[in-house]
Amino acid sequence: MRQVRLLGKNKLEIVEVERPKPSAGEVLIKVGSALTCGSDLKTYARGYHPALAPSLPHPFGHEFAGTIVEVGGGVDGFTVGERIVAANSAPCGRCPYCMMGRENLCEDIIYVNGAYAEFLLIPSRIVERNMMRIVDELEFYQAALTEPLACVLHGVDVSESEPGEFAAVFGQGPTGSLFTAHLTGRKARVIAVDLDKSRLERAKRLGAVEAVQVKSGKSTAEVVRALTPKGLGVDVAIEAVGTPEAWVEAIESVRKGGKAVMFGGVARDKDVSISPKRIHYDQVIILGVYHHTPIYIREALSLLEVGWLDVDQIVTHHLGLSEIEKAFELMASGVALKVALDPEG
Ligand SMILES: [Zn+2]
Ligand SMILES: [Zn+2]
Repeated sequence: MRQVRLLGKNKLEIVEVERPKPSAGEVLIKVGSALTCGSDLKTYARGYHPALAPSLPHPFGHEFAGTIVEVGGGVDGFTVGERIVAANSAPCGRCPYCMMGRENLCEDIIYVNGAYAEFLLIPSRIVERNMMRIVDELEFYQAALTEPLACVLHGVDVSESEPGEFAAVFGQGPTGSLFTAHLTGRKARVIAVDLDKSRLERAKRLGAVEAVQVKSGKSTAEVVRALTPKGLGVDVAIEAVGTPEAWVEAIESVRKGGKAVMFGGVARDKDVSISPKRIHYDQVIILGVYHHTPIYIREALSLLEVGWLDVDQIVTHHLGLSEIEKAFELMASGVALKVALDPEG
């Protein structure tokens, strides 16, 4: 079977490898569609990622849906021929964090990577805890949006955004756009922020009430605040860029007592300097959010099944697996948000 491997910085290869055999508890799927993701683009550009590609060469791709072609011994409730979607991870269910219901913080979380391939082996724990059948009406590329949407649902939950409130979404990349689409669906008044004009136009089509283009030398937060009643600031800011600058602007854009949700991961060797006044006198609540839990995975799939989102606004391009480098180029240049890769192409 064909499989994409990450070799290093901006380097991929498509290799022919033996089709894996499922052991006890595992399931082998024929990938129906795999979506590119902002994290994959970041990983491709810098050549590694602690969770997505901890060693090299590494199988690549983590948003997928497909059809079961082989089932290992002892697998209960799934059979060959069924169409499924699975999360890219599963928590252990036993560690202190899992016991607290904070499964995204699990100390023994396992990940699966390698969806940019013809076939993918799903580890037994993911089969047990985070794999679901999909309805016939849902295309594979639509179902594959389950994992990123679950991350967004988690972020919105943490933000406690209410209908009618102002929410600024910093960054209109693949995930920022999903935040915009979901929050506007919940009747939040979204102010979309990005460097790129065409991404802001897309955000407007997704329902953002205002679009703010980031300009160098100018405070984005000030512009955002001016768009809210009496210039107080937004009730909620979501940061989906992952740079220290965007973190600061997001925190500065929030009204007193509002919430700033830091979704974008900043490189570990970088610091962010936050004004103590914002935290103490202004009582701005700064919240981190990472990944998803099994509940959000299920909620995300349910929303996709009822057509909550116009998936084609988010998955903007369809290419064959052999064109994966082109897919990343289209993302990097801002032409594509997410690309659905067809393993047969
Ligand atoms: Zn992803
Ligand atoms: Zn755990």
